[in-house]
Amino acid sequence: MGMAMPVAGTHLRTGKPPATDLMPEICSAPSPSFGERRDGARPELIVLHYTAMESAEAALQRLCDPEVEVSAHYLIAEDGRIWQMVAEDMRAWHAGVGQWRGIEDVNSRSIGIELANTGNHPFPEPQMAALEDLMRAIMRRWDITAEGVIGHSDMAPTRKCDPGPRFDWERLEKQGLARRRGTGSPDRTLRELAQQIGFPADVDDETLLAAVRLRYRPWARGPLEPADLVPLSDT
Ligand SMILES: [Zn+2]
Repeated sequence: MGMAMPVAGTHLRTGKPPATDLMPEICSAPSPSFGERRDGARPELIVLHYTAMESAEAALQRLCDPEVEVSAHYLIAEDGRIWQMVAEDMRAWHAGVGQWRGIEDVNSRSIGIELANTGNHPFPEPQMAALEDLMRAIMRRWDITAEGVIGHSDMAPTRKCDPGPRFDWERLEKQGLARRRGTGSPDRTLRELAQQIGFPADVDDETLLAAVRLRYRPWARGPLEPADLVPLSDT
């Protein structure tokens, strides 16, 4: 398109890319729903969510509504726009009851990121690219490892199913932004393997299998099969 030409010429003259090429642009939209992290906890997890609402703007309004008492640190629109609602060193109210690696107060130990999505459609490229840039920066700032990146459904499998079957976990795994799935054939039970990764202990077999599949094999149906264990292996 014609409009791109003068911009490209400017780049050539200055030799510098625009700042937006380096860092995602983040808008501030403060939410009143947050508190101190308890017991001096630091973020060691990133919890990914989808909003299950019609638009990013509607979700933003809800996440900033004092009556609703929910929030997250960030919201990313389908077109890649990012809003920050809670400072990273504060405790946002996004995870609720659940457990990961034995941690029960997940809010005190995590950064919450909401992705605008109704739950029924894929996550568009600009949104995924913005998420990846943001995650890289957060993981660097707080020393969060790929193993510490989880979905809401991983830590609260009886209550939650976001970010859902359409979320591209493998794309994050390939970039070191989520635990890389195993390819081995482990000689252990699904429960042992899942708990070692961090999945909660207090869920029944059926719920646990559904949670593991939602993360690694969302198309799988029916009873447990050996292929369900493979992504949980160490190698
Ligand atoms: Zn959620």
